Amino acid sequence: MAAAMSVSAVVPPAAAVARARTLLCVPATARAPREMAAEVAAAAALGADVAELRLDRLSGFAPRRDLPALLAKPRALPALVTYRPKWEGGEYDGDDEPRFEALQLAMELGAEYVDIELKVADKFMKFMSGKKPEKCKLIVSSHNYDNTPSAEELGSLLAQIQATGADIVKIATTATEIVDVSRMFQILVHCQVPIIGLVMNDRGFISRVLCPKFGGYLTFGSLAKGKESAPAQPTAADLINVYNIRQIGPDTRVFGIIGKPVGHSKSPILHNEAFRSVGMDAVYVPFLVDDLARFLTTYSSPDFAGFSCTIPHKEAAVRCCDEVDPIARDIGAVNTIVRRSDGKLVGYNTDYVGAISAIEDGIRASQSTHSTASPLAGRLFVVIGAGGAGKALAYGAKEKGARVVIANRTFARAQELANLIGGPALTLSELENYHPEEGMVLANTTAIGMHPNVNDTPLSKQALKSYAVVFDAVYTPKETRLLREAAECGATVVSGLEMFIRQAMGQFEHFTGTPVVDNEFRALANSLENPCTAKRTQGAVPKPRL
Ligand code: NAP
Repeated sequence: MAAAMSVSAVVPPAAAVARARTLLCVPATARAPREMAAEVAAAAALGADVAELRLDRLSGFAPRRDLPALLAKPRALPALVTYRPKWEGGEYDGDDEPRFEALQLAMELGAEYVDIELKVADKFMKFMSGKKPEKCKLIVSSHNYDNTPSAEELGSLLAQIQATGADIVKIATTATEIVDVSRMFQILVHCQVPIIGLVMNDRGFISRVLCPKFGGYLTFGSLAKGKESAPAQPTAADLINVYNIRQIGPDTRVFGIIGKPVGHSKSPILHNEAFRSVGMDAVYVPFLVDDLARFLTTYSSPDFAGFSCTIPHKEAAVRCCDEVDPIARDIGAVNTIVRRSDGKLVGYNTDYVGAISAIEDGIRASQSTHSTASPLAGRLFVVIGAGGAGKALAYGAKEKGARVVIANRTFARAQELANLIGGPALTLSELENYHPEEGMVLANTTAIGMHPNVNDTPLSKQALKSYAVVFDAVYTPKETRLLREAAECGATVVSGLEMFIRQAMGQFEHFTGTPVVDNEFRALANSLENPCTAKRTQGAVPKPRL
């Protein structure tokens, strides 16, 4: 396995990467030239800088017939022309000569960029015999669909590409784990010529968003979901509207959610919008992490400033932090990590307050009371799950004077948590027939029912009849099957979205060091159902009170 490289060694002084703004390129991948031209127009309307014409995707492509129309001026966007052969991950299945002729024609017709694969770059140069138009930039590319080589191997690949006479270097590799991306960042930072450096698949996702920070020449964003030209390519709309890439630069601080899986999380949408609202130079990305300790030691620069933690890393996060807030330590789970100015990682738990206050307020609203006494005091509170969220809920309910019962798939873990809290443990099948009293509260803290498994539920509708209040930590979808059936049984239901908003508010305060106003942050969260159509809510989160 290639050695991981610490990003503390990679993040450069700002001046070292004072390069031109990273361009956003949308691949046009339609089968017919007319549709491809329409895609280019759509990319321009989205705000892209360049359109990549993937000639190998066209069926029945005839260069002399189709290229003049595709490259006719005026064009909606500068064109990057790529005619990718099968042996490099494309669809062209023929000899090099006709392919080279098409690329040469594209240059003559004024294409701003032409991409040629490293394996045939020398042959292409001979074919061109110095006739490349001055204005056309030649991108020499290398694609590795298996892994990301070591930093040394990437360095020699870079030198090899530069030696071909490339105007722009393109290296695309594949991440087998997220730490692989740090080696690409290192290459981007130290490269002396324009370079496109991207790491494919979902573990490499951050390379596509953070390349402006490390000086990448260009990043790709698809026209829409399903139109990607490479694995885990984000949409151009998300790059612009969610990740705000136009504002990312060398000084941008990086935050994100560490999890596995992490793709379902709405945290990037919410935190990026909140950062934008307060004018903070920061970006929040999903980190798909296999090994938390390895991730934290690799991305150890002060620029990687704070993290949210979700499944399955909340317990490991307690061990990985230099200091842990006493409540988080008691709970045994950290959902927020902040890198202090001395470089130390400090762990907190905002799930606990977020979930418990949401349930308390849900009960108060159903009883139309504003009493400050906790409505959980004295209640029987059943927690399904014994992971990070389960521990936070169990701890919080106990603190509020509830009698806590733990039910979990792995019974030993239920027992362990129950012993800690001082209550009984149940198996999931025992829970089905558990109804010792009226007015019980149920809290699901497992991922059962989470998108895409929306028809799953942790407890039968029959068993739900014993509960007066039902809370579900799952928030995608907002109304889970558990909550729908509980409401049908007459219970007061509390959505995981409410916990999500409240725990995120706590995290945002830790990240920024300043308090936010509850209902304004909530308005922001509620406006983000669809990130791409949500209108920008400048000022929805108050300016931090400094
Ligand atoms: P975690 O630490 O990995 O714990 C997962 C728990 O769920 C464990 O008790 C596990 O049981 C149980 N579980 C997982 N899959 C199961 C299945 N198929 N059947 C039965 N039990 C299963 O995860 P976590 O961080 O606590 O998160 C749990 C859930 O809460 C996730 O859906 C997460 O999205 C949600 N959550 C929501 C919020 C919010 O703001 N709304 C905040 C935090 C978490 P075993 O012990 O047997 O493995």
